Amino acid sequence: MKIRPQEIIARKRDGLALSRGEIQEFVDGVVSGGFRDYQATALLMAIVLRGMTAEETGFLTEAMMRSGRIVELPEITRPKVDKHSTGGVGDKVSLILAPLAAACGLCVPMMSGRGLGHTGGTLDKLEAIPGFRTRLGDAAYRSQLQAIHLAVIGQSDDMAPADRKLYALRDVTATVESIPLICASILSKKLAEGIDALVLDVKFGHGAFMPDEASGRELAESLVAISAQMGQPSTALLTRMDQPLGRMVGNSLEVIEAIDCLRGKGPDDLMELTYALCAEMLVLGGLHSSEASAMEALESAVASGAALGAFRELVEAQGGDASVIDDPSRLPRTGQSKDFALDNEQALYVGQLEARSFGEAACLLGAGRTGTDSEIHPAVGLELLKKIGERVEPGEAIVRIHYEDTDSLEAAQARLNNAIQLSEQKPEALPLIIGRISHRTHGSIIPGSKHE
Ligand code: URA
Repeated sequence: MKIRPQEIIARKRDGLALSRGEIQEFVDGVVSGGFRDYQATALLMAIVLRGMTAEETGFLTEAMMRSGRIVELPEITRPKVDKHSTGGVGDKVSLILAPLAAACGLCVPMMSGRGLGHTGGTLDKLEAIPGFRTRLGDAAYRSQLQAIHLAVIGQSDDMAPADRKLYALRDVTATVESIPLICASILSKKLAEGIDALVLDVKFGHGAFMPDEASGRELAESLVAISAQMGQPSTALLTRMDQPLGRMVGNSLEVIEAIDCLRGKGPDDLMELTYALCAEMLVLGGLHSSEASAMEALESAVASGAALGAFRELVEAQGGDASVIDDPSRLPRTGQSKDFALDNEQALYVGQLEARSFGEAACLLGAGRTGTDSEIHPAVGLELLKKIGERVEPGEAIVRIHYEDTDSLEAAQARLNNAIQLSEQKPEALPLIIGRISHRTHGSIIPGSKHE
């Protein structure tokens, strides 16, 4: 080690910018153990408090990305584009968007995550399909991409190991909430996938990681700027996450809703966001020159059944039981459900459905993990019978709770009690997508980068 950890920590503590070499020492030390956990967390806290310049964040992202294997996919001739969401409740967009984008001519080598906190994860949702495998060997992954232009798998352990280590430390040292650290964490993993372009869904609101529009916008701008520094074209949409997306929260339930969407029968908010993100992928991948022509292609891929066909190919290729697509009752079901109502004595409107509490209620039912090794119940979850702005007659049910046991049902009901507000006035409908930040040029502005 050329520079002692305490010297690097002291420089950041004093508000100085770290050099590329100092950041490289830190990342190497985290992976090798030369930077002890207490030293790494001291530096993480200094970064939270002092921030990082865009250049430092770029150096950190690149060093973390290079801490492990970087996939290259030269054999793939289609444009390779992925989408990443910063996490939300009822966010099953990837299940719809990945086959839709492949049906429209892209290659989608999607590496996804599991549920984190109150938010759901794409891998957990897909694993609700009996037999579906989210771990593929490198050869199987590549041959699947060549055959069907689509794979959705978990990140292998040898990719971005510095992030795995740092994320675990951040989780327990109150150092998650830092835009440079979030940027480096997300992009180090995504840029190691060997993609040509990336679309980001940056969520803000009760159910998101960023609580308000201003912090969401700052994160979106930073993600796009750092991607550009790394030579990676990207577009971020800034989207509201106040109420759950669509009407289903829970793994099997979300697969059912995703299949409905692929049949053209999805709820408006979910379809709007899926189409908008997927149109960005088609434009960024160079297949369409305008959002309008991309939208036309997307709508016709749904109407013709091509998008559903691509989903079927994905499920079959990864060992899942594709008969669930024609008969969703073959997916895990609880067999027990309870309708949840509030005691309104007059007809009112739904004013608020606090997304975070819905995510937490679903976790209490067993849809998410309570510890690192806890089991998921694929069948449990919440079905929103009403969304914000819809009318609720006296005693009318607002949510259907699909549960396994009465203890978890009671816990979920208690969480929902405070999550729903009814109002006399119909609330104003707020736009779901409120901003777009894009950088399309290939080529790095980091001196000495491999992407230069
Ligand atoms: N998701 C990540 O992968 N990393 C973060 O730091 C936050 C969200």
